[in-house]
Amino acid sequence: MNEALLQFIWKYSLYNPAALETAEGEPVTIIHPGQHNTNAGPDFLDARIKIGETKLAGNIELHVNSSDWLKHDHQNDDAYKNLILHVVYHNDVPTFNNIPLLEIATHIPKHIEAKYTSLVNAKHSLPCSGMLGAVKDITKETWLTRLLAERWEQKLEEWKALQKKEVDDWQNLLYWRMAANFGFKVNTTSFLMLAQSLDINILAKHRENLFQVEALLFGQAGMLEGDFEEKYPNKLKEEYSYLSKKYKLKPIPVHLWKFMRMRPPNFPTVRLAQFAALIHKSVHLFSQVIEVYSVKELTPMVEVIASEYWDDHFRFDEVSVYAPKHMGRSSVQNIIVNTIAPIQFLYAQRHGSIAQKEQALRLLESLPAEKNNILNTWQESGWEASSAAQSQSLIQLYNNYCTPRNCLNCAIGLSIIKSVPQE
Ligand code: SF4
Repeated sequence: MNEALLQFIWKYSLYNPAALETAEGEPVTIIHPGQHNTNAGPDFLDARIKIGETKLAGNIELHVNSSDWLKHDHQNDDAYKNLILHVVYHNDVPTFNNIPLLEIATHIPKHIEAKYTSLVNAKHSLPCSGMLGAVKDITKETWLTRLLAERWEQKLEEWKALQKKEVDDWQNLLYWRMAANFGFKVNTTSFLMLAQSLDINILAKHRENLFQVEALLFGQAGMLEGDFEEKYPNKLKEEYSYLSKKYKLKPIPVHLWKFMRMRPPNFPTVRLAQFAALIHKSVHLFSQVIEVYSVKELTPMVEVIASEYWDDHFRFDEVSVYAPKHMGRSSVQNIIVNTIAPIQFLYAQRHGSIAQKEQALRLLESLPAEKNNILNTWQESGWEASSAAQSQSLIQLYNNYCTPRNCLNCAIGLSIIKSVPQE
């Protein structure tokens, strides 16, 4: 037993409520266990109980051993003076206070602790693998929807921290997030640094001239600093030299860009050229995408092709076979899943629009599930994501709950732990 499990048992009333009594032998009825308090102070607030014939309302403290009361020095803390109940797993020593004490160990069914132990000690990367079949579909679906909202809210917090200001500049937020997304994991940080170093208003001024947009992006990426043989990169270099002086720009270090072990169509040079094409074709991209909830309508807004030079290049000065550099369908879907839908959801949330939040969720439900190692693990355990909404939720669940063994805060964990084993 540990305190986290004891609090979990108390919170969800996973004990046998019959014949509870205080150390003095008075019968105890729990009307409401109280609100779990994760801040300083007693563990449960505003509980309602009955001791004998007396109804009481107030706070409750839980400990594995009654002696923890003294170890935690609660006798000298005013926050614990007016408790209505002290719940302990074992009453190992008298605590000499006037608070009614309830020892609960014998009221907790054996399987609760056994299931919890089997989850947190499991060697499998997905501790409940093999137990998922017993969990109701409605529990899984409701939990996945909550996880998706949680994932997006976390993203907003990260993005807010990046901007170092309140997220009211949605146009800029979309620009940064879109740039980071074009890094497709390996070059995410470099793309983000690039966007942070190049004000969106400068790009907007030159938006109609694709050549200048490329010069700004490649120059700012530090990719125009070398010597080139071909005319095109030399012209870009010349243009950037002029623009960087005009706007007092300083490029990011070129060594930040990664090409190793990548398929050439994913090279950052190709992605930058596609990003330039997106900036070039987008007039007020944010206002365009923010209220469009169909993949069919969003796809042409995001789908771009890199400029002509890239038809037979993956890098400057290296001619390759002719292959225009379209954004693939999976790249477009990746951008809808990771940038557009979260921004739509968060924008709707900020403006209190429940209908639009639901539409953003439905947008993900209309896209196929992503594929990666985490989702393979879920699939092998019998839970296959049926849409991008589910795959995003399962990634959130795996990273934030399963890996840190946070099963006590997971709806699946609650369902498994409280289920009564078949005889
Ligand atoms: S956190 Fe939830 S889903 Fe993950 S292993 Fe624990 S019980 Fe299973």
